[in-house]
Amino acid sequence: MRERAPALADWAVTAAARAVLAEARERAAGGPDAVPAVLASLGAAAERRARVLARPSPARVINATGIALHTNLGRALLAPQAAAAAALAATTYGDLELDLATGRRGDRLGAVANKLALLADAEAALAVNNNAGALVLAVSALATGREVIVSRGELVEIGGAFRLPDMIEAAGARLVEVGTTNRTHPDDYRRALGPETALLLKVHRSNFEVRGFTAEVELPVLATIARERGVPLLEDLGSAALVDLRAAGLPEESYAPARLRLGADLVCFSGDKLFGGPQAGILLGRADLIATLRRHALARALRLDKMTLAALDWTVAALLAGGREEIPMLRQLREPLTAVAERAQRLAERIGPIAQAAGLRAVLQESRTPLGGGTLPGLEWPSWALALESDTFGANELATRLRRAPIPVIARVAGGLVLLDARTLCEQDLEDVVASLAAALIDGAAPAHAGASD
Ligand SMILES: *Cc1c(COP(=O)(O)O)cnc(C)c1O
Repeated sequence: MRERAPALADWAVTAAARAVLAEARERAAGGPDAVPAVLASLGAAAERRARVLARPSPARVINATGIALHTNLGRALLAPQAAAAAALAATTYGDLELDLATGRRGDRLGAVANKLALLADAEAALAVNNNAGALVLAVSALATGREVIVSRGELVEIGGAFRLPDMIEAAGARLVEVGTTNRTHPDDYRRALGPETALLLKVHRSNFEVRGFTAEVELPVLATIARERGVPLLEDLGSAALVDLRAAGLPEESYAPARLRLGADLVCFSGDKLFGGPQAGILLGRADLIATLRRHALARALRLDKMTLAALDWTVAALLAGGREEIPMLRQLREPLTAVAERAQRLAERIGPIAQAAGLRAVLQESRTPLGGGTLPGLEWPSWALALESDTFGANELATRLRRAPIPVIARVAGGLVLLDARTLCEQDLEDVVASLAAALIDGAAPAHAGASD
């Protein structure tokens, strides 16, 4: 077995062999009849298992879905310079918590918080591990033991076990629901406000739309109500940028500073969605509220590690310098459709020869894709895709085979076709897509990642 897989690490082979032998003993205990079959399968089973064990995680895949902020594929790409800053922070000592001027203990977040506040024109800023953490921190620091008012139309579940009511409960606050699923009015909030109210919370409907007979209390109105009663207003934007992207077709609510100007006391959003940075939860707003959050014990539990901090700091500095083209998310978002079409065309040309040989038809077609990552529902991006149809494999079978190729390619299946969307492919991906497609089309080829769930 080792000769056939020289690249497999010893530790993985040993662990796999132990596990497979333990299973074989159990199965062989079923009686002598079972023994020959058990023995015959041992080598292959151990090798499969060792491969699964030794696989790097997360492993690189090619995102051909067209969904730039695909949650399952790791959301936003980080700029290589941000990744380099993270690597430097990780491999050298740094002034993470040392004030070089005084020699005293420093503030790990100070520099990035200052830059964030400057960029957003906010009084103050804070960054924690992720946006769910930002929300739990804010609710804990401002409302534990008291009430948080939320419209019934905004009690979202984001996926990955993020349910707003559960988050509020985890933070030790009481959720007070107002309005109905489709309609909430200013008076609903006014009636619910009382001496126990600690926070008004507005939540972006990241992954669904309410259409038809609907009413929602707009932010300025909610801000007026909050101010009348002296209760802070937090808006969880989910996905937001510190660059105004309205020219790229994004709605106003995707621009966090605009929400502060409309009266939110605090906003929070993810660092690795539209913002285009590392995983983080970014909080912006009133200095007194941010100070309260920073003092809370959870701020320590949710603090950023030095690698994320360095990547975030680089990203914010790049944005301050106007370097939008350096942020992959912003570059993808603003890439002209013609450039996407040309890339799809180049992919088609490269696939041509193998397609012909393997009974595969590949046709360019226009496509539309969401931004993804629980971002802006209803917002779709125009794109171009290569639609594949095979004589040998059905669309789902071909998509599965692509997913199991040596460099996995994640495609969409629609209308009986496998779609390779060029929006999220980069030039360097094209050759790998061709190689993986060639591997996927070889009938009977042992898929590299088969048996991941054995
Ligand atoms: C995505 C999202 C979150 C969770 O953010 P994470 O960074 O994944 O923790 C919370 N609220 C809303 C509205 C979201 O869209």
